[in-house]
Amino acid sequence: FEEIRKADGEIADAIRAEMDRQNSHIELIASENWVSQAVMAAMGSPLTNKYAEGYPGKRYYGGCQCVDVVEDIARERAKKLFGCEYVNVQPHSGAQANMAAMFAMLEPGDRIMGMNLDHGGHLTHGSPVNLSGKYFNVTFYGVNDDGVIDYDNVLEIAKECRPKLIVAGASAYARTIDFKRFREIADEVGAYLMVDIAHIAGLVATGLHPSPIPYAHVTTTTTHKTLRGPRGGMILSSEEMNQKFNFNKAVFPGTQGGPLMHVIAAKAVCFQEALQPEYKAYMEQVVKNAKALCRGLQARGIKIVSGDTDNHLMLVDLTEKDLSGKELEKRLDDAHVTANKNTIPNDPRSPFVTSGVRLGTPAVTTRGMVEEDMEKIAEIISLVIESGDNVEKAKAMVAELTAKYPLC
Ligand code: PLP
Repeated sequence: FEEIRKADGEIADAIRAEMDRQNSHIELIASENWVSQAVMAAMGSPLTNKYAEGYPGKRYYGGCQCVDVVEDIARERAKKLFGCEYVNVQPHSGAQANMAAMFAMLEPGDRIMGMNLDHGGHLTHGSPVNLSGKYFNVTFYGVNDDGVIDYDNVLEIAKECRPKLIVAGASAYARTIDFKRFREIADEVGAYLMVDIAHIAGLVATGLHPSPIPYAHVTTTTTHKTLRGPRGGMILSSEEMNQKFNFNKAVFPGTQGGPLMHVIAAKAVCFQEALQPEYKAYMEQVVKNAKALCRGLQARGIKIVSGDTDNHLMLVDLTEKDLSGKELEKRLDDAHVTANKNTIPNDPRSPFVTSGVRLGTPAVTTRGMVEEDMEKIAEIISLVIESGDNVEKAKAMVAELTAKYPLC
């Protein structure tokens, strides 16, 4: 850090301010986490200097013998972690992994089915503002009035639209996803199944959520959410599917240039960490904390979409409150709690205003917080929902809690 300060005081100040913000705020954004010092050091290593277009043993640049070792280790560890035969660790992000997987399996104009963004899906699953929505013909499925995926309805829609690819996976869905059922639906209509486990990758890796690997033709993920690695993406599949679709070619040269070898090194470190028993204990605590937070909020009369959580996140439903997701996000921020507004199924408000807030426990759990701290967080959120006048009181409670768990 002192090196940055010597070279560039402005950026050093901004980084310092962000470190202070991270220390003093309670982080409840479900897709965020704190990586280890080892992961961070790998990202800041001289591997950032190296061009390595291609794959280990088949590069378009000289001097790749050391980064080849890194990428091979990353791939082998990822295969072990997820129990699959084929891995590509080069996607720069989750969006890039999804784009490459679709590029490999589809032609422009093909029909796909994805989960409605307003019901918890992701932009890259067919939203009209994303490349996936512009290049493919998209039909959406969603959740029922109880806030859960209705698989019979998914089948009905699939039979009607006959997609070439069905995308399962979500950004704001708190319940277990039945990947076996999704594969049965895909088989019934002759579609391929792509599963995006970006959010639940850590749960899948530790057996806390059923794995899609036995069912999906291709699985994509990010490495920076529950998995607690560097920002990045990854594609997982079988040798057979890779022979058929050539995912490597779809990543490079299909959709990317040179891989970020420093990030791939950090992914390898993250996978090594995730293979340890301590990581499984961490993920178990993430789920326990999510349950505790959910119960704490419900006990205070706060409605949760689908009435429960099976994973690391939940969606607060504000439709019965005179408060929007946007207003609550702002009030929480003022109280030093970071969360994001989120549409809820059949949201009466616009996506910019919303009637929901998404809460997740991966980051607070990394910080060391446990169930009794979730009770306090539920109390803080409840106070802030009750009235904007409670923000100062809530902020003082946050300060007490964050002081108990210093970060950096
Ligand atoms: N897929 C899902 C389900 C996600 O939730 C996200 C990010 O939030 C992505 C893909 C995209 O990941 P990235 O932001 O790394 O492109």
